[in-house]
Amino acid sequence: MNNTEQIINLGKENVMNTYGRLPMALIKGVGTRVWDSEGRSYLDFVTGLAVTSLGHSHPAIVETIKEQASEILHTSNLYWIPNQVRLAKLLTDNSFADKVFFCNSGAEANEGAIKLVRKYAKKNYGEDKYKIVSLKNSFHGRTLAALSATGQFKYHQGFEPLPIGFSHIEAENLIELQQAVDQNTAAVIIEPIQGEGGVHPITKEFLLSTKQLCEKHGALLIFDEVQCGLGRTGKLFAYEWLDVTPDIMTVAKALANGVPIGAILASAKVADTFQPGDHASTFGGNHLSTAVGCKVMEIMTGEGFLAEVETKSSYFRDKLQELADKYKLEGTVRGLGFMLGLPVQEKGPEIVQYCSDKGLLINCVGGTTLRFLPPLTVSMKEIDEALAILEQAFKEKLQNK
Ligand SMILES: *Cc1c(COP(=O)(O)O)cnc(C)c1O
Repeated sequence: MNNTEQIINLGKENVMNTYGRLPMALIKGVGTRVWDSEGRSYLDFVTGLAVTSLGHSHPAIVETIKEQASEILHTSNLYWIPNQVRLAKLLTDNSFADKVFFCNSGAEANEGAIKLVRKYAKKNYGEDKYKIVSLKNSFHGRTLAALSATGQFKYHQGFEPLPIGFSHIEAENLIELQQAVDQNTAAVIIEPIQGEGGVHPITKEFLLSTKQLCEKHGALLIFDEVQCGLGRTGKLFAYEWLDVTPDIMTVAKALANGVPIGAILASAKVADTFQPGDHASTFGGNHLSTAVGCKVMEIMTGEGFLAEVETKSSYFRDKLQELADKYKLEGTVRGLGFMLGLPVQEKGPEIVQYCSDKGLLINCVGGTTLRFLPPLTVSMKEIDEALAILEQAFKEKLQNK
């Protein structure tokens, strides 16, 4: 089925209408490049929203999937799964964490993390310690508890009553922080760089104050690195840029380069709260997703990989800022590594459309911030190509402001 109109019509008839989709279907990808069902090609600076970080059809990923598919795809967590054990070891060897739980998505990872901190708090401090504090403008997923942690009212609307015990404070507001975190707080959950909220990095100072306040009140600190983790910022995990180590970290998107997976990473004292029967996931950590996860981790921790991400992304960032200055944009480039945002006021959707027409896929968050999430494997030539299209777009859409 390659006729775009036919795909769209059938989709409208048969798929629930939950997404505002562009009228196109991408059906093939190699590296940074993707092709739509009309045969047009694009540079993919969206990467399924920070998922295909090693690019499309990466030969080592394709090989791993083929090999694993011909061995065994799925058993149950009633039995040990060698790849799951191997991936857990790779994750604990390369982070603060001692233990890992595997699931299938970012929301599911956060949902599990919320259960983990609730149980930990009740067991160690008593029944009243269950409150979860998060930030306004945050995004933690669409399941009910993850949604309750998400600090954006527009996503809550219509789904009340939501689970209780959640509150949201302004990022960088120390007074609100001190008022919100008390002896009944089980955890604070924060994205070190807010993604869906518009690419807003949280300052080291605020995160350090949060950590200190958590320690004072026996609360746990969860970092949601579902989007900013796994090489995206130029380090394997975003917390490595900070002087703050969380007690729990959730990851998902890029961990298996497009095969669904999520994970909760935790220190031993927290992780050991979960006992047999407390939490589970049928598909979580199955042979296929964890085989691919291991390959992704091997590649990302390989010699020079992250250093190259830093070099290429700082080049891209500098050039992007030059464009912003040249076209007199008010804001500056935000973010870290290859997780970058540029505010363009109300011109966002028009610029996204223009770039798409010229062969560059980018995304716009909140209607006002262009978000750039190229594959970490993008070449300098492709970066230059993308910048040239962006410049055309700015010339066309921003010149007459
Ligand atoms: C995407 C995202 C989620 C939700 O992940 P899903 O896999 O869509 O459930 C949670 N937190 C952050 C920071 C995200 O970017």
